[in-house]
Amino acid sequence: MNNRGVLTVVSGFSGVGKGTLINKLLGKYDNYALSVSATTRGMRPGEQEGKRYFFISVDEFEDKIHQNELLEYAKYVDNYYGTPRKYVEEMLKNGKDVLLEIEIQGARQVKKLMPEALTIFVMPPSALTLKERLVGRNTESSDVIRERLKRAVVESQGIEEYDCILVNDDLDTSVEKLNAIIQASHYQSFRNTSFINKIREDVNVFSEGE
Ligand code: 5GP
Repeated sequence: MNNRGVLTVVSGFSGVGKGTLINKLLGKYDNYALSVSATTRGMRPGEQEGKRYFFISVDEFEDKIHQNELLEYAKYVDNYYGTPRKYVEEMLKNGKDVLLEIEIQGARQVKKLMPEALTIFVMPPSALTLKERLVGRNTESSDVIRERLKRAVVESQGIEEYDCILVNDDLDTSVEKLNAIIQASHYQSFRNTSFINKIREDVNVFSEGE
């Protein structure tokens, strides 16, 4: 079987709990690697440089675009966000399942560039819980929350472009479902063409000399 990691894109509305879900997945299983994005957004209280994001200036970000260092990038509510290419490629080669927690424009770029990527859209159990979570986490101003909810309206139009949806109701159950979706995808036939061809060739021997 192929031992290359599965590139997994996780998207979902702001406030849906993608971050918490991914943190729990990373804490529980050691076959995952999280891609750390570059962003021009300001650091929130409690965030650390290099943990979820590299916080850089607009000039530095645009430099990375020109040097072709980003696998994908997008502007989201006035800030740039992008995935450094090198880490992703190295980890996939090492057999790690690489998680990209990115929004829909980035997800589309990744799918175009790497059609084998597995894309998952995390949904709230209801629209109301989404608003409550976003307001309740208290990390953004009311203007930014309004912008992010407006953005959810646009993103909701693209959900069917994703391979799978995951409803994040109970956190522990959702972590298990996320792990199950990703691990099952390793067995997709298109990821295992060398193995299939090898067995096919070997099986052919049986009909030789008949
Ligand atoms: P936040 O500011 O809440 O951390 O992230 C805002 C949005 O940007 C989220 O939907 C998040 O998934 C997305 N995002 C984070 N990193 C990247 C990235 O590298 N590329 C893209 N396209 N989106 C990202």
